[in-house]
Amino acid sequence: MWRASVLTLFPELFPGPLGASLAGKALEKGLWGLEAVQIRDFATDKHRSVDDTPAGGGPGMVMRPDVLAAAIDQVAGDDPRPRLLMSPRGAPLTQARVAELAAGPGVVVVCGRFEGIDERVIAARALAEVSIGDYVLSGGEIAALVLLDACVRLIPGVMGKEDSGTEESFAAGLLEYPHYTRPQRFEGQDIPEVLLSGHHAKVSAWRRAEAERLTRERRPDLWARHQGLEAAQNAPEKAVSQTPRRADPESSSSG
Ligand code: SAM
Repeated sequence: MWRASVLTLFPELFPGPLGASLAGKALEKGLWGLEAVQIRDFATDKHRSVDDTPAGGGPGMVMRPDVLAAAIDQVAGDDPRPRLLMSPRGAPLTQARVAELAAGPGVVVVCGRFEGIDERVIAARALAEVSIGDYVLSGGEIAALVLLDACVRLIPGVMGKEDSGTEESFAAGLLEYPHYTRPQRFEGQDIPEVLLSGHHAKVSAWRRAEAERLTRERRPDLWARHQGLEAAQNAPEKAVSQTPRRADPESSSSG
């Protein structure tokens, strides 16, 4: 079973939205598991303190390395699961990374609070920092929920249709094509005729062209990477020597 352990000062936030809908049903059925661990339980002083003032001065508080290390050691130990720290400094979360995590045994996720956590525990416990975007949240819990939601829906049996993730945005390095359903006419706009033709090859070609158009218009960064990938597929030797970094979605991080 794919298992998530979340280390947090607010375990009551879990499963939160992941207790509803497909993820919630899958959790009930045991297709994945979740434990939310209170970091404060590993504090040793009488005030149960988990944070202290920043060395060198400055605003806010910093999470203590000793308390966090004790929590990680108890929860993860020799566990093979990747240890992640939600952090705005981390590698941007991508669908490729999500797919990789979903295919593994699960994750151990540390949620920061305050100004962040002491740098030494990041190195000492080999935490991989992951960001969900270039903005600052007040804590890692919502970021962890985002990461878990993206992973859990890829676990076999969680989504209604086994292959419903294969055509989604980012699955092929492109944004997804537009969707339509009944009624056939809505406020003067019709469903594109090709989608009603029953001609599967034409429908596929239309969807592919729309996915390319949307990606080109909205996400020049993804489009450039996609073209690099296509070049690599068409001319492997030449392209590999010219575009190895761009062809790997995980390596496009600005850091
Ligand atoms: N002082 C930090 C900085 O400027 O980078 C921000 C700390 S933030 C107030 C507290 C915690 O929220 C972080 O330790 C991290 O766990 C989480 N967090 C905030 N923004 C995030 C993001 N974009 N992605 C992932 N986690 C985030």
